[in-house]
Amino acid sequence: MAVATASTSLYFASPTHQKPSIRTQLSPPSLILHRLISSHRPLLQSRRSVPPPTASAVEAVQDLSAASKKPPLLPFRVGHGFDLHRLEPGLPLIIGGVDIPHDRGCDAHSDGDVLLHCVVDAILGALGLPDIGQIFPDTDPRWRGARSSVFMREAVRLMHEAGYELGNLDATLILQKPKLSPHKEAIRANLCEMLGADPSVVNLKAKTHEKVDSLGENRSVAAHTVVLLMRK
Ligand SMILES: [Zn+2]
Repeated sequence: MAVATASTSLYFASPTHQKPSIRTQLSPPSLILHRLISSHRPLLQSRRSVPPPTASAVEAVQDLSAASKKPPLLPFRVGHGFDLHRLEPGLPLIIGGVDIPHDRGCDAHSDGDVLLHCVVDAILGALGLPDIGQIFPDTDPRWRGARSSVFMREAVRLMHEAGYELGNLDATLILQKPKLSPHKEAIRANLCEMLGADPSVVNLKAKTHEKVDSLGENRSVAAHTVVLLMRK
């Protein structure tokens, strides 16, 4: 119906168009509906005439369904991680396992290492596993004040156990203060060591948040990470 109306408007809006018989060419809505139903009738009829599935067909579908529940061993898997922590005065600021001198640090159950949490989540995500908060819940006293390298080592272990190794990793830290450039190489070296990876496949970027929102007002710190895992 919409097509007929649009066509009608198009022709009527064009006084130079030489198609005087356009009204006779247009199909009334009921005729279009009839044609649509007619064109699908063989399909509708064939659906009605499909015999019920045999027992062997049902078993075959069940086998297929059971097989599809096994996760496929893909050649590559991509994962994304994000983390954000509130900054509070008087707490240590630890990023990528490096103590960064600052007047405030991350408020967290563990050491609040925003970068490592984010990398762990990216690896777990690539493996299709639950996130860091589910594997290391902040209600568990074992993780109170824990170094986040513990979470990293577990994520790397799970990665190898699943038959994958790191292809490459790209991380972005977002914080207004302090400047991260003096610490970037130390952080990157730590990441490489924990991941057992060559520096050429571990990239780290840092940027401010243009003094906007909590990140830009030095009230929080955040990180994004993308990882590519490759089948070993
Ligand atoms: Zn975190």
